[in-house]
Amino acid sequence: MQVNEFLQTLRTHGAKPGHEQRILRAWLKAAPLDSGPRKQQAENALPLALRSALPGLQTTLDGIARVQSEHPGEDGSARLLIELADKQTVESVLLLRDGLCVSTQVGCAVGCTFCMTGREGLQRQLSSAEILAQVVLARARRHVKKVVFMGMGEPAHNLDNVLETIDLLGRYGDIGHKNLVFSTVGDPRVFERLPQGEVKPALALSLHTTRADLRAELLPRAPRMSPEELVELGEDYARRTGYPIQYQWTLLDGINDSVEELDGIVRLLHGKYAIMNMIPYNTNEGLPYRRPDPERAADIARQLHRRGILTKLRNSAGQDVDGGCGQLRARTAKVVFQ
Ligand code: SF4
Repeated sequence: MQVNEFLQTLRTHGAKPGHEQRILRAWLKAAPLDSGPRKQQAENALPLALRSALPGLQTTLDGIARVQSEHPGEDGSARLLIELADKQTVESVLLLRDGLCVSTQVGCAVGCTFCMTGREGLQRQLSSAEILAQVVLARARRHVKKVVFMGMGEPAHNLDNVLETIDLLGRYGDIGHKNLVFSTVGDPRVFERLPQGEVKPALALSLHTTRADLRAELLPRAPRMSPEELVELGEDYARRTGYPIQYQWTLLDGINDSVEELDGIVRLLHGKYAIMNMIPYNTNEGLPYRRPDPERAADIARQLHRRGILTKLRNSAGQDVDGGCGQLRARTAKVVFQ
């Protein structure tokens, strides 16, 4: 179900735009649908037909997705395996400091060679309601003040639904626009559409290497944009919005941690409005990559910092509970189908 279809149903029960907003706000807060300011004036009260329909509407919303299992990590994050109405599953991750990472597709067509989700290809798109339901399920557990679209799937491949989700979260979900983070491998459509929205999210670009040939190998079905082009478009968006671009770099031992790559990063990003997020890869049975030595990873971050690149060394959350996008789902599927 798309959110628009839900709003259409509200209208058939006599909802006016103010009522729709009130019900949407309540849902996105994980509160009862009839909560919110209740003024005595008749024009602010929900119409009787709508009030009577609320229990059924609540059941419809509750049926969009449910938490199949929860996997707390030692670092305070937690992975949620979310079951959708058709029994497909996706992952959300409750992050530290009130963050939430959501999935936008079941599977993914980009096929990054270091990613479990990429291995199974695209199964289907998530609707805007299915993406929002992940926020609602997370909010039933803890505060969510930041939503990053970095879970399973490539948001640029489900652009209309992701942009609708961002718009609704920014307008009714009580989340600051710069705390909505659209993450992509880079797609020309993203750079056209994002600046047009009323709610402009922050942007994370998955760079992973400064070498176009290696990028084509690691991200085989990403649009063929060179690292230079990506950074140029990213810089333009950063200057327009006033938020720095977050460049994502999955650090793979012996693959993209060379001196040449570090020189390449300095060449590309020096003077840019950017943050480099270095994320040491989580070694994964069945994939031919290794996690770099922690000392080496820390040294890389230090070197880049010294050379003027704002660099943060991050751990992918929930590492001890099958961290990395799609690993939990893959592990669960393995258990189920063995
Ligand atoms: Fe898709 Fe992201 Fe995995 Fe690449 S890393 S295959 S874009 S989910």
